[in-house]
Amino acid sequence: MKRKMWAVLTTLAVFFACLVTFNLSATPAKAETTYTIGTDVTFPPFEFANKQNKYVGIDMDLIRAIAKNQGFKVKIKPVGFNAAVQSVQSGQLDGVIAGMSITKEREATFDFSKPYFTSGVVMAVAKNSKITKLSQLKGKKVAVKTGTSGADYANSIKNKYGFKVVTFDDSNNMYEDVMTGNSAACFEDSPVMRYGIKQGTKLKIVTKPAENGSYGFAVEKGHNQKLLKSFNKGLANLKANGQYKKITEKYLGKDASKDTDSTSDNSFFGLIKQNKSALWSGFKETLWLTVVSIIFATIFGVLVGLMGVFPNKFLNGLSTTLIYIFRGLPLLVLALFIYTGIPSLTGQKIPAFVAGIITLMFNEGAYIAAFVKGGINAVDTGQMEAARSLGLPFGRAMRKVILPQGIRIMVPSFINQFIITLKDTSILSIIGILELTQTGKIIIARNLQGFKVWTIIAIIYLVVITLLTWLSNWVQKRSKL
Ligand code: GLN
Repeated sequence: MKRKMWAVLTTLAVFFACLVTFNLSATPAKAETTYTIGTDVTFPPFEFANKQNKYVGIDMDLIRAIAKNQGFKVKIKPVGFNAAVQSVQSGQLDGVIAGMSITKEREATFDFSKPYFTSGVVMAVAKNSKITKLSQLKGKKVAVKTGTSGADYANSIKNKYGFKVVTFDDSNNMYEDVMTGNSAACFEDSPVMRYGIKQGTKLKIVTKPAENGSYGFAVEKGHNQKLLKSFNKGLANLKANGQYKKITEKYLGKDASKDTDSTSDNSFFGLIKQNKSALWSGFKETLWLTVVSIIFATIFGVLVGLMGVFPNKFLNGLSTTLIYIFRGLPLLVLALFIYTGIPSLTGQKIPAFVAGIITLMFNEGAYIAAFVKGGINAVDTGQMEAARSLGLPFGRAMRKVILPQGIRIMVPSFINQFIITLKDTSILSIIGILELTQTGKIIIARNLQGFKVWTIIAIIYLVVITLLTWLSNWVQKRSKL
């Protein structure tokens, strides 16, 4: 049995080592003056993924041109508008460029650059809708995007016009809700809505722009002042040398609609072929997250589980408390707490990947601790008594007599937990980790092929889960022999 266990452990170690090497080789070296800039998932013509899944648009071209002009580097994080704003506020990201309106309230927590674009909020309805005025929204639902000035505007007038507000994390889901008829209208920035309609979004604009204002690049108040100054200087230079005009004309001028997806192959296999590199890197990230967090969660879970059966009241209490807290917290809340909550208190950045691993380690680890404790407790108490009465100390009795029996009881639960861990990685898309689910969101944001893309993503998850189950069953069989 011992030899078999070693064989199994070695196989697993080799598997993990392979993963580590291929992931490390895929990680590029970091340059020194790199700023991490958050942006929206999709907000065309300001930011959107093109066919090669590269982020382009007015904001993207501007920030890259300014970076070049001022001699710094940027790393773009398309985490979604609300997440980007919050991450800058908590110091997780250095700045945000996402068609962000300069408002009085925001100026209390952000320092804005000089304005670079003017815009306002319009109301859009489905193509065949009869609604043309705010007053016709009575008793209806209106879709908005979380944390935007459009959402603020809707909330400020909802009582007056008697409508209900429903929020979405990105523009496409908001449009979709109106197109399917769930919501009667949505509020969106006018240049974005006009651009979207020109590109084929089946909505129409029915009001004049309200709440007119300007977009600015933002950093956390009192922080990253050097970056802000460089942005302003670069922007002024780009305006003076004609580059600013070139960029805006590229997306808003006469031949602006070249980068549409209408010509691309939207069949099932066409989509796979077109997005294979994005899907592949999303897949690798998911696998990598799963493997690393399984390792940490197992270590954490086994330790906490053992603490629960150790003959020591304090350790027992600690174990119960840890399990209670981390099993009780929803994964999403824990992820947001670690990624945005803690850094806003300490001022220390935690990279999204690390925050994701910590989240899964605690959450999955708490479940592991619970069944490790249960597994050990399930071994007949007489066994421990017998071993101790033979003179074995607690540690040895545990190692030699109880654990070998307990582990057998735990194996199916471990397998179950590993599969759950894999599925739970999808929740980490909320903190912007580019794993499979976030990759799916970004692809759909560009081509609006929700059904097919989610089918592809679902199949990939199922394939991985099948492989993981096979591997686990194989391990289980070997360890039983
Ligand atoms: N301009 C709006 C705001 O600042 C919307 C921005 C966005 O959705 N990316 O709130």
